Amino acid sequence: MTREQVFNFSAGPSVLPESALKSAQESMLNYGGSGMSVMEMSHRSSIYQEIFDSTKAKLRAALNIPDTHEILFLQGGASTQFSMIPLNLMGENGCADYAVTGNFASIATKEAKKYGKVNIAASTEDCNHTRIPKQAELVLDPNASYFYYCANNTIFGTEWKYTPETGTVPLVCDMSSNILTKPVDVSKYGILYAGAQKNMAPAGLTVVVIDKKLAGHELPITPLMLSYKLMIDKDSMYNTPPCWCIYMLGLTLDWLESCGGVLGMEQMKKARAAMLYDYLDNSKLFKGCAVAEDRSDMNVTFRTSSDALDAEFIKAASANGLLNLKGHRLVGGLRASIYNAMPLEGVRKLVDFMKAFEVANV
Ligand SMILES: *Cc1c(COP(=O)(O)O)cnc(C)c1O
Repeated sequence: MTREQVFNFSAGPSVLPESALKSAQESMLNYGGSGMSVMEMSHRSSIYQEIFDSTKAKLRAALNIPDTHEILFLQGGASTQFSMIPLNLMGENGCADYAVTGNFASIATKEAKKYGKVNIAASTEDCNHTRIPKQAELVLDPNASYFYYCANNTIFGTEWKYTPETGTVPLVCDMSSNILTKPVDVSKYGILYAGAQKNMAPAGLTVVVIDKKLAGHELPITPLMLSYKLMIDKDSMYNTPPCWCIYMLGLTLDWLESCGGVLGMEQMKKARAAMLYDYLDNSKLFKGCAVAEDRSDMNVTFRTSSDALDAEFIKAASANGLLNLKGHRLVGGLRASIYNAMPLEGVRKLVDFMKAFEVANV
């Protein structure tokens, strides 16, 4: 198939803006008259430093990140943050609050238990994570070192539509699958972070935005590479950073700005999600998995009447250029991930295809 014939609904790594890919392609062999690919440059060179600094500046502008917060470009995926956060924030004999609303929050909780006491502030395990807890349900410990939650549950298709109120307890948030999809008041967060491969860049980069005053209190056993303080002091260049991914993030941010920034992204995502959910709500064949008020604008989970029909749908959709609609292996069913770079046209084509499939199968 050609690229033009395909819409890619992968949950991650996922679709990137075509302009960013083209720009990378044009500079692939020779970036800015340097005679080198960005992949071949020393991370200590002035030409690369310029790429690094400008990407940071673009992200700071896009998310309106205050000077109190530092931007880190790290490796190890979002999953490494599951360990890095408690190691740095828990403190000696510390404790932390965790909201368990999905698979990744659950893994983060288990990891945190190695380093301190964990209070389950809320869990939606009993309803297989089809909803998000309300503020009034959160059991908060005023002495917690931080409150941890996952803003968008990529696998289950739910999303926090509010920012939890935790008083003076710092908020720590996994925004891997909804960063840069709407404005966020960064000053409310101690840490927000995201693996880049869902919505920003190729896999290999993890973006961390951290309130600088939270750094420097890591447990003595903290591995060198997992110290926020060290990474802040060295501007993410203690060792070689994920140079190429950072460059790609810069190109994605150029595209994002040309589309009206995060406000533009928010409008586009609302249009995409409304189109798909409107159809799902009225379908006689497909049913959404998540509770309506908590469902995600980025990862739409749904199913037909049977696993066999789900499989048939995936196969038929793929043959029509609608790719990667299989639900996560933990939950099965179907999932359409409609991140920033998914054109509305892709969702329209998906809905048209679902309508035709419905007519043929009910
Ligand atoms: C994908 C994902 C992760 C895991 O990311 P890795 O970069 O593969 O470690 C964690 N949290 C959320 C919300 C995700 O979507």
